Formats: sequence, C-alpha cells, structure tokens
Amino acid sequence: MGEARAVAAPPVTMLAAVLRGRDDLRLEERPRPVAGPGELVLRVHQCGVCGSDLRTFTRGPSARYAVPVVLGHEFVGTVIEVGAVGDAAAAIPTGARVTVAPAIPCGACEACRRGSDNLCAELLDFGINIDGGLAEYVRIPARSVAAGAVVVVADDLSDDAAILGEPIGTCLRGLRRGSVTARSIVVIIGDGPIGLTHAVVARELGARRVLCVGHNAARLAVIGRAGAETLVVDAGTDEAGAILAALGTRADTVVAAVPDPRALEAAVRVIRDGGSVVAFGGLAGDPTIQLDGNRLHYGEWTLVGSFNCTTAEFREAIDLAGRLDPRRFEATRFPIHRIADAFLAAAGRTVLKAVVTMEPPP
Ligand SMILES: [Zn+2]
Ligand SMILES: [Zn+2]
Repeated sequence: MGEARAVAAPPVTMLAAVLRGRDDLRLEERPRPVAGPGELVLRVHQCGVCGSDLRTFTRGPSARYAVPVVLGHEFVGTVIEVGAVGDAAAAIPTGARVTVAPAIPCGACEACRRGSDNLCAELLDFGINIDGGLAEYVRIPARSVAAGAVVVVADDLSDDAAILGEPIGTCLRGLRRGSVTARSIVVIIGDGPIGLTHAVVARELGARRVLCVGHNAARLAVIGRAGAETLVVDAGTDEAGAILAALGTRADTVVAAVPDPRALEAAVRVIRDGGSVVAFGGLAGDPTIQLDGNRLHYGEWTLVGSFNCTTAEFREAIDLAGRLDPRRFEATRFPIHRIADAFLAAAGRTVLKAVVTMEPPP
C-alpha cells in the first residue's frame, strides 16, 4: 500500500456487480468511470457485502433503488483520478488510500443544517441511487468530497478495518441512541454481521453485559468469540421469556437488529423501567407493531429509531476501527469473479460476512 511505482494507464472498462432486479445480480463489463470537476475515481481494493445488499438481492429493490445500479457501499480504494476545479489544489490527492461514507448528504436541507445529515431529504447512497463499490472502480461525487465523507486511511489501518466505517458507525449511533453506558446490560436481537458489530461496539463502549440473541448457532458462536454472551432461540418460541431467563434480570437497552416486527415487541417485554429500545433494522412485510401504552407511560420506556449514521459518526467509526481487531469480524473473502458465490453464501447464511476483493493492477 502507498508505495510509489510506475503505473500503467488504467483500463477503459471494468468489472462491476450490477443489480438489475430481484435475484438478478450480474457481473458486467462497463466503461470505467472518469472524474468530472471535483470528483474522484477510486480503484477499489475490496468491498463488504451488507445486509441491505442481500435484502435487495433476495427481496428485490425498493423504490429508492435506481436500477440497474452497481451495488456496494463498504469499500476502500486508491484515488487514481481527481477532477480539477479551476486551478485549486485537490483536497484528496491521487494515490491516497480512502474509504467513503455511503450516504451523501446535500449539506443544505433542514436536516443537514441541524447536523442530522443521515436524515438528509436529498440523500444519495452508493449502491442505491448512485453506482457503488462492488466494482473495480467507483466514481465519488463532488458532494461526497465537500461533505467531508471521504476519509484518507492511515497507513497502519488495514483494508479489512477500513471497510468497517459504515457498520461500526451505524451501530455506534444505534447504541448511543439507546443510551448505552459502561453500566449497561445490553441485549441485541439479531445474529447477522450487524448483530456482531453491535456486540463488539457495545463492548467497546464498556457495557457491563452484552447478550446477543438469534436463531443460528454457528453465527452466534462467531459472535460469542467476539466477546458477547449468546442465546440461541428457536423461531416461533417465546423469545422475550427466553431472554429474561438467560439474563436473570431486565435489560437497560435492547437493540432490535432484525427485519422482524415481532422482535420489537419482544424487546419491549425485556427492558427495565426507564430502559431503551432501539428500532435498528428496516422491517420486512407489514411493519405494524403492538405496544402496551400503559407500560410505556408507567415504565417510562424510550423507544427510538436509528438509521444510518452521520458523516461525523462515520469518521469517528474509522478511528474506532483502528483500535479493534478486524479478525473479530470473521469476514470470508471472495474475488469479484465469484460475486454470485459471495451473495449466495451470505444470503444462505453459510458465512457471516462476505467481502469481495478486486484483482490488483498488473
Ligand atoms: Zn452496510
Ligand atoms: Zn440534506
């Protein structure tokens, strides 16, 4: 990384994983993007496959997706092209190794102006409505650079750690929205990569106990190795009862990190009076939940949503990633020509986290 050498001119085409619809992800040869004014082009080193990529692949893209679109938002790469703006010096130079916050805020709407740029009304997202990083090259809009969303990665931060900015940033936000402190007993419902990331970050915030709950024993074993207590529950059983029995007490914070609205209903049965429930995951199917309004009132619960992370939290997460051992995240690597295997393995839950690697240049 970062060593100077004679580099051949980049190719004019690239391989990209293009989502065209439900169950329709194709490896296509496309023109390599070029940098317009203020834009960057990165040669991608690697890109994580997120739960949202899998959901879109298996259930079909929502209305926000501008299909066909190159998927992928957890990427790290080297800047190979900088689009000049007049004769101003580029803020991010050619050759820099960078990672980029997936959400690109406008910087001007009311949400952006009050610092909640994760709720920007004009949000652009890599892999959703602009082409993402599951490709050999990706174009970074000028708006990303202006928002401070492009982070130059320190030499001692590995590529494996650098792609953790978004998962760590979103979990950091979720746990803070759930008021997690060093005294907290935290329950995380969900045994996917985001359940794992919540467990690691909750530990990092000093939480006294962290219990991760799910259906998949193999995935929970990975999460257990990362430092959490784990509980396997069979689908359709009394999840809240099982959690209370395993904890022996009530939780201060419960994070519902699965797309099932029943998990939110179980969560509110597990928290103590004055505790917090975090609605972390987007819900599949009918998202209606039933709550006991009297327990909400007399028990003074807090029920909060948490969505994405701000640009500031993304930058903070990259710093945090540098202090964590990326091996705790147990990623399985697939070269881009095996993109279909990566998606099938992650969607089929035979791997916890798939990371797609690009061929380095000759
Ligand atoms: Zn992600
Ligand atoms: Zn905005």
